[in-house]
Amino acid sequence: MSWVLGRVWMICGVHGRRHTRAAAAFAVAAALAGPLAGCSVASVSASGGAASASGGATTASGGAASASDGATASRGVTTAPQGGSSRSPAGAPSASATAPSRPLAGKVIVLDPGHNGQNWSHPAVINQPVNVITETKPCDTTGTETLAGYSEHAFTFSVAMRLTRLLRAEGARVILTRTNDHGVGPCITQRAAIGNRAHADAAISIHADGGPPGGSGFDVIEPGLIAGHNDAIIGPSHRLALAIRGAYNRITHEPYANYVGNHGLDVRTDLGGLNLSTVPKVFIECGNMRNASDAAKLSSAAFRQRIAAALAAGFTAFLTSVGGASIPGAPG
Ligand code: ZN
Repeated sequence: MSWVLGRVWMICGVHGRRHTRAAAAFAVAAALAGPLAGCSVASVSASGGAASASGGATTASGGAASASDGATASRGVTTAPQGGSSRSPAGAPSASATAPSRPLAGKVIVLDPGHNGQNWSHPAVINQPVNVITETKPCDTTGTETLAGYSEHAFTFSVAMRLTRLLRAEGARVILTRTNDHGVGPCITQRAAIGNRAHADAAISIHADGGPPGGSGFDVIEPGLIAGHNDAIIGPSHRLALAIRGAYNRITHEPYANYVGNHGLDVRTDLGGLNLSTVPKVFIECGNMRNASDAAKLSSAAFRQRIAAALAAGFTAFLTSVGGASIPGAPG
């Protein structure tokens, strides 16, 4: 979805199926672009694809571990690992790491807060075309915002920080695709590559939609089959989607979206973050920022904490189940 806000079109890349409109918007915005010096993703490859994304790891976060939104990202944040474990060889798990109170011990979870705070000011960077197998689309997008001006990038980062704390408390190793909300990018190809390099047990891209004002509710997006590319993750990603959908609906009481998807689920093959993933991954549109009722909820810190709790419960259900047996709605 896209719309005109003042002179600049605002686009959320996740729900923006008609990416050509997004590209046109960025072409307009490019005229307003400032110098790129200091941009954290200036080295982003324009060739796209998984291979090119592998070189961009160090640009993923700008190197800073931000502690904004009241959550610290500094303790144990591992951003864009280069492969293997970042732990010391001597850093064997403690006895407590395997205690029942830490059910996610040994699990690796990648959180991808959609968009970034300075994407709007670097259109030439985020408009670089990248290859997502099924099409070519912009490297990243600005995201949407509520009518009151609460931005999607701030929302996704807030949820990610809260979720990070909850998952770490359960023993998981959490990796973020960006650790502050004042940078640019990374490209959607890099966001996928970060999860791949980490060999994540599960990954999620967190978004909120810019849908029609009359539409409300949440939607979990899972990868559609692209034969020869993502065959291995279709099954587990579906189970992850069911686990996330169930927990989100149960804990936040947000209904399934009434304007997109099917009972809170959608299957898409136009999202780079899914197409290029080699690990189980879903996207979630936590609500519709352009709907007054949803916007009020998404703008609430207490509700974002509830969202984080719901997503943590979804991950825990997925990662501690055997064959999805404990996931409501999962095939037997
Ligand atoms: Zn988005």
